[in-house]
Amino acid sequence: MRIVLLGAPGSGKGTQSQRLVERVHIPQISTGDLLRSAVSRGTELGRQAREAMEGGRLVDDSLVLGMIRERVAEPDTRRGFILDGFPRNLAQAHALDHLLEAIKRPLDAVVQLEVDYRELVRRISGRRTCADCGRVFNLLTSPPGTTLCPKTGHAHRLIQRPDDNEATVAERLRVYDEKTRPLIDFYRARGLLRVIDAEGDVDAVTRRLSKVLGMPALRAPVRKKPAAARKVLKKTAASRKVAPKNTLRKKTAARTVRRSAPAKRASTATRGKRR
Ligand code: AMP
Repeated sequence: MRIVLLGAPGSGKGTQSQRLVERVHIPQISTGDLLRSAVSRGTELGRQAREAMEGGRLVDDSLVLGMIRERVAEPDTRRGFILDGFPRNLAQAHALDHLLEAIKRPLDAVVQLEVDYRELVRRISGRRTCADCGRVFNLLTSPPGTTLCPKTGHAHRLIQRPDDNEATVAERLRVYDEKTRPLIDFYRARGLLRVIDAEGDVDAVTRRLSKVLGMPALRAPVRKKPAAARKVLKKTAASRKVAPKNTLRKKTAARTVRRSAPAKRASTATRGKRR
């Protein structure tokens, strides 16, 4: 599955990408993360990207496209990938189209994460990243709690991104509106766009995302029936032993009972709650 997550800074692209990675085991390709890594390693690419990043502007298309071409060619992307933060303007979207067309692996879906402007600013101010494993947290909505860093085995070492300050955030949101928002129509015209409400509970957003992507692996795990219900089903099946000897019909009857029983239980439970 090849997916693009579209959305303004702070819309949760990184968080939701990481959740998809854990469940569907395809890599997240975040151009922001790749660029930040280049900056911190002091590479030539990092040196060229740094100024634009600090000012909240877009890094040169040629630099970003070179990075994407290399990353998409790596073997771990064979089963698919999640693009997070790329493309960010029409030129990048066209270039991505050509790149994927050439390797005959077109996009499957583009999901737009919708979040209100004020909520974006609130989220960005609470955003922190673990300096060791790179996991993204939010002090307001998804704090690390007692989870430990998988890299160090200790508590996460939380840092705030240098471009998450007030002035840069305003510029990044402006750039998003001007350059990235037009991609919504671009992908809608290609029949790839899905839009989800990305506000509220993080788990609820993940459920909405998995639903629009039609990913059964992301749905809630199937719960085992409670022991009491299993007993009733056993009894019902036993009482049918007098039924015709045709085993096929017997199996069908048992299956029908199994399917209808949980629905009955659910409606009884709901009635109980309402009272
Ligand atoms: P992000 O982590 O996605 O918010 O990106 C952080 C910064 O990296 C952005 O504000 C840009 O300066 C730069 N950047 C990330 N992705 C791109 C891209 N696709 N094109 C240009 N600049 C980018």
